[in-house]
Amino acid sequence: MRRKIAAGNWKMNTTIEEGIALVTSLEALMASEKCKCDVIVAPPFTHLYPVASAIADKKSCIALAAQNCAAYESGAYTGEVSAAMLASVGCEYVIIGHSERREYFSEESETLLKKIRLVISNGMNPIYCVGEKLEERESGNHFNVVATQIKEVLFNLDEEGMKRVIVAYEPVWAIGTGKTATSTQAEEMHSFIRRVISEKFPSLAPLTSILYGGSCKPSNASELFAQENVDGGLIGGASLNVNDFIAIIKSF
Ligand code: PEP
Repeated sequence: MRRKIAAGNWKMNTTIEEGIALVTSLEALMASEKCKCDVIVAPPFTHLYPVASAIADKKSCIALAAQNCAAYESGAYTGEVSAAMLASVGCEYVIIGHSERREYFSEESETLLKKIRLVISNGMNPIYCVGEKLEERESGNHFNVVATQIKEVLFNLDEEGMKRVIVAYEPVWAIGTGKTATSTQAEEMHSFIRRVISEKFPSLAPLTSILYGGSCKPSNASELFAQENVDGGLIGGASLNVNDFIAIIKSF
């Protein structure tokens, strides 16, 4: 189902105490607001259980995401965290294929597909990130790059699996740089992504939520979210500041 979503990716930030304080203030502020979107937070692995408990205490409408998961079901993979473990702690979503995972941990389509399949088979929803690098945009190759990232991974899913997928378009040149895609650039790519999805999943393409990510902040969120094919945001830096994140949530 296509929904409006504001998802905060905390990356490798905050101590557990800071994370709980952040989500507690977020809940308090959300209680006084009428939210027009689903709100998701993606804390680091170590914070998932305490944040899940803090959310459950207040019967909050905030949902929990992990930032990554293992490409294996279970076993001798020291340091990895499985999809089943994430489901058991209360995660409903898992971010897969963030550009920082692709770039620093060499994650490619084959691995990302394995991860997405495990997220789905454990009853959670993948937030699958795609996006081009600066040189790919400057050489006019950005549509090809994004189409390939979608086809190599999502086209291998069946309809039931695809129903669970949320796509996040995150141009790499806009992540953490303060440079945001213009609303025209975002809408152009989001409508392109929807067309690509429709090649394999014609009935699901109009129902798939496509989020924008890349230096989304209170000053640009309303214009981005007003675009027809922009269903919300995956927000990094600004989600660590509760007032900024609430302002973004109120931008729908
Ligand atoms: C992200 O990490 O997904 C992201 C979009 O980061 P930022 O908002 O800081 O650019």
